[in-house]
Amino acid sequence: MDGLNPRGGWIEVIAGGMFSGKSEELIRRIRRAEIARQRTQIFKPVIDNRFDPHRIVSRDNRELDALVVEDSAELRSKLVFGVKVVGIDEAQFFDDKIVDVCMELADAGVRVIAAGLDQDYLRRPFGPMPRLLAVAEYVSKTHAVCVRCGSVAHYTQRVAGGNSQIEIGDGSYEARCRSCYEPYRADDEQKISAAETRMALKASETP
Ligand SMILES: [Zn+2]
Repeated sequence: MDGLNPRGGWIEVIAGGMFSGKSEELIRRIRRAEIARQRTQIFKPVIDNRFDPHRIVSRDNRELDALVVEDSAELRSKLVFGVKVVGIDEAQFFDDKIVDVCMELADAGVRVIAAGLDQDYLRRPFGPMPRLLAVAEYVSKTHAVCVRCGSVAHYTQRVAGGNSQIEIGDGSYEARCRSCYEPYRADDEQKISAAETRMALKASETP
């Protein structure tokens, strides 16, 4: 991935569903840069606090220090002089301006590695990810294993919780392939359970 331009700036995006190893891959790339004594910084949005707020931790427990930021403006303000590689985890939770920040960094000779969910639980492109994927020099799509059939899983299936786009917690999701994916709607389940409750109440009322 070197030699593209003399200053060495470019954008890499690691995109995929949950449980597909995005954070592991980000950590692997950042570690290799550190071995080469390149100055690195890793950022993640404040919303992702599933493990330790100041580290990025992959599901295989590899970890690196990360700076937690509110938005792209704060990320930009926390960049240190001479940084050579910037990692961004959970990029889908950033505002749209993250794309401009990544472009500015790459134009200035910084290698940017952004990892994030490419789609939400309804398979809609997630936050700034579509634009990031469009402008990146390099794109890696990571895949999980479908929990139903064992084939390549491209989707994050919601299995519990509400209908909001952001619902944090591994327990609410499963990796699924295209054949096994089912659109999730909390309302339907709630309606069904409400109907069941009414029926149960009626049954208990009848003498
Ligand atoms: Zn499947």
